[in-house]
Amino acid sequence: MLRLTKFYCRSFDLDSLTIWWEIDDIINLTDDIYAYEFTLSKSEAQTGPYDIVFGPFQNIFSFRDSIHPENHKNRTIYYKLLIKDKRNQEYREYGPTAQIPEPNLEALEIIRQEDVLFRGFTGRKWYVFPRKTFGARCHCFNKVMQRLEIGNCKDCFRTGYLAGYNSPIAFYAQRDPNARQLQKTPDMDHTVNLAQLRTISYPQLSPGDILVDSENHRWVVIVSTPTQRLGYDVHQEVTIKELLKGSIEYLLPVNDDIKDVNSISDRRNFTNPQNVNTDFKPNYLGDQPDGILY
Ligand SMILES: [Zn+2]
Repeated sequence: MLRLTKFYCRSFDLDSLTIWWEIDDIINLTDDIYAYEFTLSKSEAQTGPYDIVFGPFQNIFSFRDSIHPENHKNRTIYYKLLIKDKRNQEYREYGPTAQIPEPNLEALEIIRQEDVLFRGFTGRKWYVFPRKTFGARCHCFNKVMQRLEIGNCKDCFRTGYLAGYNSPIAFYAQRDPNARQLQKTPDMDHTVNLAQLRTISYPQLSPGDILVDSENHRWVVIVSTPTQRLGYDVHQEVTIKELLKGSIEYLLPVNDDIKDVNSISDRRNFTNPQNVNTDFKPNYLGDQPDGILY
């Protein structure tokens, strides 16, 4: 199987992005290069959905993607390369890569240590729906007036782009308890719940993304501020705002296993094993099942 040693995406041009890759020791390659097919695909979010931009093709090691959507400051385009051996249908996928700096060892270690902190101690499980910033327009979008015609459209969730959001990603994050405020207006009372959330650099959170916590409170990202090591994001401080119950964003489906409560219960904290038996471990209420409130 061919092995990639480099897979980069760079450009100093607004009209295109150049993606290139290198194969391990191609000079002395004894294998038949024409036995392999390459397919390049791209997406706005790291986890997809990915669309094929080029391929399948053979014996080509760079591609200039000129079908590059209009410029947007918070948008990163991710590329994946699929290499398939035509003889035995074996394949290997590389990526995603994007036009972002390479992390050095310190950055990777900072991320690893913070990841342990969020997963094992201070963080809880969250889901993010990355908002689409380009794509096929929804039927509710008036192209002449450049605005949405329906406020609660179920096909785009108020974004104007079909499906509205990219594939959701589960991750661990710590949210500060927020002040519960009430804003009184002559017509109705508004509850304003702003909060601060922090997580590692993945998944990258951008304004407009929808966050879902374990209790199905849904939030929208207002501001996301990264901490960087040599240009590479290692940490994110995020200001989020809770959505009103009944907002169209509450229809975004989360298809995770709701019985997997290990991630939200207190007992996920790391404990050193004291014996080799796996006996039933009573919780702090005695032998009450987990999940009982008092
Ligand atoms: Zn729509």
